[in-house]
Amino acid sequence: MEFKEFEVEVVDEKQMDEGFVLKLKETPFYPDGKGGQLGDRGTIGNARVLKVIEENGETLHLVDKSVGTGKHIAKIDTARRKDIAQQHTGQHILSAAFVGTSNIPTVGFHMGEEYSTIDLDVPVLTDEALRATLELANEIVRSCIDVEILEVKPEELDHYHLRKSVDEKILESTKSIRLIKIGDFDVSACGGFHVENTGMVGTISVIKTEKIKKTQTRVYFLAGKRTERHLQKLNDIVGKLTTSLTCSIDELTSRAETLLEELKTARSLTKKLSEKLAQKIAVSEEFEKVDNIAFVFWQEEPEVAAFLPKYLKNYFLVSKTEDGFMLASDTLNCSKIVEMLKSAGAVRGGGAGQRRGQIVSDLPPEKFIELVKKVIKDESTTT
Ligand SMILES: [Zn+2]
Repeated sequence: MEFKEFEVEVVDEKQMDEGFVLKLKETPFYPDGKGGQLGDRGTIGNARVLKVIEENGETLHLVDKSVGTGKHIAKIDTARRKDIAQQHTGQHILSAAFVGTSNIPTVGFHMGEEYSTIDLDVPVLTDEALRATLELANEIVRSCIDVEILEVKPEELDHYHLRKSVDEKILESTKSIRLIKIGDFDVSACGGFHVENTGMVGTISVIKTEKIKKTQTRVYFLAGKRTERHLQKLNDIVGKLTTSLTCSIDELTSRAETLLEELKTARSLTKKLSEKLAQKIAVSEEFEKVDNIAFVFWQEEPEVAAFLPKYLKNYFLVSKTEDGFMLASDTLNCSKIVEMLKSAGAVRGGGAGQRRGQIVSDLPPEKFIELVKKVIKDESTTT
């Protein structure tokens, strides 16, 4: 890993449930979530930094072990900073491109470990607008424009055409505003990490969009190495699919549609045949009588079991399920039978109504059947 080293002074350490919280005299660590950005990671002494929290103007560092107060060497993960800078500059370019192509403003930004999102103030984002925006954004990347950082006084802000105006409260409380300027393409106030040239952002890609809050659209995007990793992942998935479905990439969608259609037909045929078989079994088989009721035990296809109650008469059906048994009867009260089985310790869970019951049980089928027959006989003697 690449690291940048700093000497820091720990002035306070507190033990918490999740680890130790350190306060530094001055911190080089960027806090999590500030300006929508991810925070720094690294080490302080020999402790790993798990979280950097900004609270009431103070920065707190959650670390995995005690380091003690005093001077220590802190190391910051610079590869992570590079990734953060790519995503953040990518966001400026993407947001400016949405304004440039479609006049759609960004109203929210969140950077995550896997992907980042911007919230657009538009209820529906058309494919055309998205395509044109990505084209422009990646053209800006390829143009390798310098990304400048300017420190300006609040009263000088009028000289710049800011994409988003700065909050009045911030203007009143500060002497200097940090602007990120990307040539003539975009200027916006921001305190996060950025690359020095748009070429360093790498390809910007959008992986998903969704409607939020009825009037906005959330855009999930990646930049730089994240886009490369995503492309590799897609290649792997598509490679596996084309091999298992024996078709080319271009045929993949229609192949999947055909298979789904075939599956639908097969399912409906299975249902039809299961019903036919259930009907045949119900009318032609001789069932054992328990207390004058046809006792049916079915441990084959559950699809057939589902249709048996429709064609059986004066019966009690027990069928095997994945984690227990299904009960059905037109004569006996299943809920009562289940209660009795529960008292006998044969049931781990489940429930029943008058005509049907679904129970979870570890008992082997022979044992369970034996117990059910006994319960049925007991039931008839008690009523
Ligand atoms: Zn920024």
